[in-house]
Amino acid sequence: MYQIAIDGPSGAGKSTVAKQVAARLGIVYVDTGALYRTVGYYVREKGVDKHDAEGVTALLPGIRIGIRYVDGVQHVFLNGTDLKDAIREPEISMYASAVSAIPAVRAFLLDTQRDIARSNSVVMDGRDIGTVILPDADVKIFLSASSEARARRRYLELKEKGVDTTFEDVLEDMEKRDRADRERDVAPAVAAPDAVLLDNSDLSPEESLEAVLRLIRERVPEAAK
Ligand code: C5P
Repeated sequence: MYQIAIDGPSGAGKSTVAKQVAARLGIVYVDTGALYRTVGYYVREKGVDKHDAEGVTALLPGIRIGIRYVDGVQHVFLNGTDLKDAIREPEISMYASAVSAIPAVRAFLLDTQRDIARSNSVVMDGRDIGTVILPDADVKIFLSASSEARARRRYLELKEKGVDTTFEDVLEDMEKRDRADRERDVAPAVAAPDAVLLDNSDLSPEESLEAVLRLIRERVPEAAK
């Protein structure tokens, strides 16, 4: 079994690349952002201020998160309900980012993430996979791109899903969220010292995938077969 950690800011294409890597190598893709989004969704549903650490922490015992894979696609269940795309709304991104800075929330989601990697070869994407969740991962990649390139990709993705938004709003939200993720005290979104940095601003999705696969095959004999 082996573990691949892909970290980096939002819109760097982590999930697109990780999904394809999982399909190509026949391993499990774990989207950890979906877990923070699920907690954020619940906090909004309960009407609690997303920055209120005590209030959010008090809600955690009421949350049961389940992950199931259907045809290789990750489904996250909140107390038995599949939230599907409801966690992709821009408002939930901001809730996810705010609650993810609360230490109790990170501790709450730690075992769920590590448990999956204990029993499967995984490619896991997030912000602290290489630094906190899987510090011994076989491959660590920190994927990034300019904020304009990332906002453009995210804007097109949201537009395609029918979400009503503008490029300027996406860019502003993204920069705000990335700054908060990078500067928080607990598990900040920074590259692990042993991560390979890959800037894909000028790469097509295919080129980005090939670059990532090359890095993996160089480091994991099992993946090179
Ligand atoms: O990756 P995604 O954009 O879905 O993540 C939503 C938010 O969840 C991020 O902005 C970040 O604040 C938080 N997150 C995190 N650690 C992870 C994954 C996501 O703090 N491993």
